[in-house]
Amino acid sequence: MSTHWDLHCKDCNAGAGLRWNHGDQDLLKFLQGNGVGIVARLSALEVDVMLVGSPKEGNLLAFCAEHSAHRVVVRSEYGDVLTLTEQPAIP
Ligand SMILES: [Zn+2]
Repeated sequence: MSTHWDLHCKDCNAGAGLRWNHGDQDLLKFLQGNGVGIVARLSALEVDVMLVGSPKEGNLLAFCAEHSAHRVVVRSEYGDVLTLTEQPAIP
Protein backbone atom coordinates (compact mmCIF):
# COMPACT_ATOMS: atom_id res chain seq x y z
CA MET A 1 0.00 0.00 0.00
CA SER A 2 1.33 3.43 -0.85
CA THR A 3 1.52 6.20 1.70
CA HIS A 4 2.46 9.71 0.68
CA TRP A 5 4.44 11.80 3.16
CA ASP A 6 5.07 15.50 3.45
CA LEU A 7 6.75 18.07 5.64
CA HIS A 8 4.08 19.78 7.71
CA CYS A 9 4.17 22.90 9.87
CA LYS A 10 2.17 22.45 13.07
CA ASP A 11 2.12 26.18 13.76
CA CYS A 12 0.59 27.15 10.41
CA ASN A 13 -1.17 23.86 9.56
CA ALA A 14 0.54 23.97 6.16
CA GLY A 15 2.41 21.38 4.12
CA ALA A 16 5.17 21.54 1.53
CA GLY A 17 3.10 19.49 -0.94
CA LEU A 18 5.84 16.94 -1.57
CA ARG A 19 3.55 13.86 -1.77
CA TRP A 20 6.54 11.51 -1.35
CA ASN A 21 5.52 7.86 -1.52
CA HIS A 22 7.27 5.95 1.32
CA GLY A 23 9.34 9.07 2.03
CA ASP A 24 8.84 8.99 5.79
CA GLN A 25 12.35 7.89 6.79
CA ASP A 26 14.07 10.18 4.30
CA LEU A 27 12.04 13.15 5.52
CA LEU A 28 12.83 12.28 9.14
CA LYS A 29 16.54 12.25 8.28
CA PHE A 30 16.06 15.63 6.61
CA LEU A 31 14.50 17.01 9.81
CA GLN A 32 17.14 15.40 11.98
CA GLY A 33 19.95 17.08 10.04
CA ASN A 34 18.23 20.46 10.37
CA GLY A 35 17.44 20.33 6.66
CA VAL A 36 14.69 22.90 7.07
CA GLY A 37 17.12 25.45 8.52
CA ILE A 38 19.78 24.74 5.93
CA VAL A 39 17.41 25.00 2.97
CA ALA A 40 15.93 28.17 4.47
CA ARG A 41 19.39 29.73 4.34
CA LEU A 42 19.77 28.63 0.71
CA SER A 43 16.48 30.32 -0.15
CA ALA A 44 18.26 33.68 -0.22
CA LEU A 45 20.33 32.46 -3.17
CA GLU A 46 19.33 31.84 -6.78
CA VAL A 47 19.02 28.08 -6.34
CA ASP A 48 16.37 25.42 -6.26
CA VAL A 49 16.49 22.41 -3.97
CA MET A 50 14.88 18.99 -4.14
CA LEU A 51 15.48 15.83 -2.17
CA VAL A 52 16.96 12.88 -4.04
CA GLY A 53 14.24 10.32 -4.66
CA SER A 54 11.35 12.65 -3.92
CA PRO A 55 8.73 13.48 -6.55
CA LYS A 56 8.97 16.85 -8.26
CA GLU A 57 6.01 18.19 -6.35
CA GLY A 58 5.53 20.98 -3.87
CA ASN A 59 8.04 23.71 -3.12
CA LEU A 60 10.65 22.65 -0.58
CA LEU A 61 12.61 25.89 -0.78
CA ALA A 62 9.63 28.15 -0.14
CA PHE A 63 8.30 25.90 2.61
CA CYS A 64 11.61 25.87 4.49
CA ALA A 65 12.04 29.63 4.12
CA GLU A 66 8.59 30.27 5.54
CA HIS A 67 8.52 27.70 8.34
CA SER A 68 12.13 27.20 9.49
CA ALA A 69 11.42 28.77 12.89
CA HIS A 70 8.22 26.77 13.36
CA ARG A 71 7.40 23.26 14.56
CA VAL A 72 7.85 21.15 11.42
CA VAL A 73 6.96 17.45 11.46
CA VAL A 74 6.67 14.63 8.94
CA ARG A 75 3.02 13.84 8.18
CA SER A 76 1.29 11.24 6.01
CA GLU A 77 -1.69 11.84 3.78
CA TYR A 78 -3.74 10.03 6.46
CA GLY A 79 -2.62 12.37 9.22
CA ASP A 80 0.01 10.15 10.85
CA VAL A 81 2.70 12.37 12.38
CA LEU A 82 6.37 11.55 12.95
CA THR A 83 8.49 13.84 15.10
CA LEU A 84 12.11 13.86 16.18
CA THR A 85 13.08 12.65 19.63
CA GLU A 86 16.50 14.28 19.39
CA GLN A 87 17.65 17.82 18.76
CA PRO A 88 18.78 18.56 15.21
CA ALA A 89 22.39 17.51 14.62
CA ILE A 90 23.29 20.92 13.15
CA PRO A 91 21.89 23.89 15.11
ZN1 LIG B 1 4.76 27.56 9.85
